[in-house]
Amino acid sequence: MDYFPAALETLVEQFAKLPGVGRKSAQRLAFYILDQPEQTAKDFAAALLDAKSSIGCCPVCQNLTDGDGECAICASSKRDHSVVCVVADSKDVVAMERSREYTGVYHVLHGVISPMNHVGPDDLRIQQLVERVAEGGVDEVIMATNPDTEGETTAMYLSRLLKPFGVKTTRLAYGIPVGSHLEFADDATLMRALEGRREI
Ligand SMILES: [Zn+2]
Repeated sequence: MDYFPAALETLVEQFAKLPGVGRKSAQRLAFYILDQPEQTAKDFAAALLDAKSSIGCCPVCQNLTDGDGECAICASSKRDHSVVCVVADSKDVVAMERSREYTGVYHVLHGVISPMNHVGPDDLRIQQLVERVAEGGVDEVIMATNPDTEGETTAMYLSRLLKPFGVKTTRLAYGIPVGSHLEFADDATLMRALEGRREI
């Protein structure tokens, strides 16, 4: 049992609720905040509240955006709206955009199907994707969930769900990371890379 003042204990408890933050780290963060000037704490609290109140979801792709309107990507006439890349969360959109290769649009699921963590299809933005495809105008849906068990399960589930709409569903290719060496690739990666080979 720790003997902290009540307000400090509350602060530690709040930090400890954050993902990946244990009790020890939460205490460190709380003490750090206490050591800061009052204005720093005020700015921190204001940023939390501001982010929560001003950031909304794009009604089309479900990505995070300012306010409640369409995001910049969905609103852009330069993007190919017939190709939809499905990703688990907003961070993946940033990663895809970094490539500067992708010109289609996105759909953000806000997670992946994970029975272990009690996340089912109804907990994700899957219905919105189905409605989007059902409306027409989408030719291809690229499954860009992570190549782990949950990502694969989600991709398989979605491709089966979208099949009746006659839309082409594709999966990101697996391969050897650029700049890496064959001898360091694990068996599964090597096997998938071989399966996904293409003519040059
Ligand atoms: Zn959008």
